[in-house]
Amino acid sequence: MSSQEIEVLVVGAGQAGVAMSAHLTERGIPHLVLERGRIAERWRSGRWDSLVANGPAWHDRFPGLEFDDVDPDGFAPKERVADYFVAYAAMTNAPIRSGVEVLSVRRNDGAPGFRVETTDGSYTARYVVAATGPFQKPVIPTVIPADAGVEQLHSSDYRNPAQLPEGGVLVVGAGSSGVQIADELRRAGRQVHLSVGPHDRPPRRYRGRDNVWWLGVLGKWEASAPAAGAEHVTIAVSGARGGRTVDFRELAESGITLVGRTQDYADGVIRFGGDLAANIHAGDANYLSVLDEADAYIERNGLDLPEEPEARILGPDPACVTDPVTELDLAAAGITSIVWATGFGVDYGWLQVDALDAAGRPVHQRGVSAERGVYFLGLPWQSRRGSSFIWGVWHDAGYIADQIQIQRTYLSYENAAVAAEGAAV
Ligand SMILES: Cc1cc2nc3c(=O)[nH]c(=O)nc-3n(C[C@H](O)[C@H](O)[C@H](O)COP(=O)(O)OP(=O)(O)OC[C@H]3O[C@@H](n4cnc5c(N)ncnc54)[C@H](O)[C@@H]3O)c2cc1C
Repeated sequence: MSSQEIEVLVVGAGQAGVAMSAHLTERGIPHLVLERGRIAERWRSGRWDSLVANGPAWHDRFPGLEFDDVDPDGFAPKERVADYFVAYAAMTNAPIRSGVEVLSVRRNDGAPGFRVETTDGSYTARYVVAATGPFQKPVIPTVIPADAGVEQLHSSDYRNPAQLPEGGVLVVGAGSSGVQIADELRRAGRQVHLSVGPHDRPPRRYRGRDNVWWLGVLGKWEASAPAAGAEHVTIAVSGARGGRTVDFRELAESGITLVGRTQDYADGVIRFGGDLAANIHAGDANYLSVLDEADAYIERNGLDLPEEPEARILGPDPACVTDPVTELDLAAAGITSIVWATGFGVDYGWLQVDALDAAGRPVHQRGVSAERGVYFLGLPWQSRRGSSFIWGVWHDAGYIADQIQIQRTYLSYENAAVAAEGAAV
């Protein structure tokens, strides 16, 4: 069967695929982006209705295009974020084919490059960039059996409170998704329990600057790996309702019952770990450490930013923390649904080359995979903390485009040498 030839094939047209295309175009490298849904599909159909960006509009964007209808210090609604990437793709004339799923990528036999099977025919590509996202496959821990009599869904399938059956809700996971979903459900009048694990909760704003600014000037976006021991610590930040610091005391005051990590389940009863207070206090310590670092930065750089001593007042622990619920009979407590905000895994089943470890995770250095000619983009901590975020993926895309360009340069030398040899014969 015939196949179309393309030099670089990019799989996925989320923000990573759009950034990759822009950098390849800038270097004059022919390419094609295949997207199984629409551009920025996950921003449209993989997120809840009321979600807004976690970072302000001045920051969560690519160079050369602003959110002209969103206050730069405001937080763009998720559909607007998706529209932004559609506009960016149009501005850069990105060659994107939507509605085409990549089914397999395999090394060509006896020839360089890769054979790519898709729902719309075959391609051969010299280079392949996997830009299928940091968060591909919802992960739900196997704690509660499917027939336990409660509705169970992952945060990526949650849309709004009306979608859930009447009754109380247990939200498991207190990262950015879990806290926002719990807060929305409580505001909609639901009884909510929120299961809180280890987390960081940086201040939304401090002394007149947003969290993203502090992450930038304190060098934290550029950190190459999570701090030792903090690999499984989630980050709770939110742009909801104008952007506010995630404050578990405030959530408790609103009527949410905080509980420890969800541990196990038997006969309708769920048990929580005794780690709630420790998790809350470690989150406080993280929050206060950012204030300390920010103060030190202001001092050292002689900045004139307003003092904010009240930011250090945390208040007493709420009753649900000092006297925590450790067991909950779901039926007796009226809990009819559980939202698992427990994160994501990856699924590279289509990538049938030597670029994955035994568990199916990418083997790479800064996105350059173990299989020559295959690259990853948009992975968590691909090169730095910012890698899976709008701000950071732009830089990684530039790096990957450079790597591809370097390989092309070697190849053109090889081709020129062969041609010269041929001419000399
Ligand atoms: C709830 C939530 C909120 C977030 N908020 C922010 C934020 O405010 N700011 C920020 O910077 N980051 C945020 N992030 C992190 C990150 O920006 C997003 O996860 C973003 O979607 C990642 O973009 P991406 O292009 O790397 O991956 P994705 O958006 O996941 O895009 C991958 C694309 O690949 C396509 N695809 C997958 N497999 C195939 C295949 N086999 N063939 C063809 N196409 C395929 C998918 O359809 C998808 O469109 C958030 C993440 C989550 C989960």
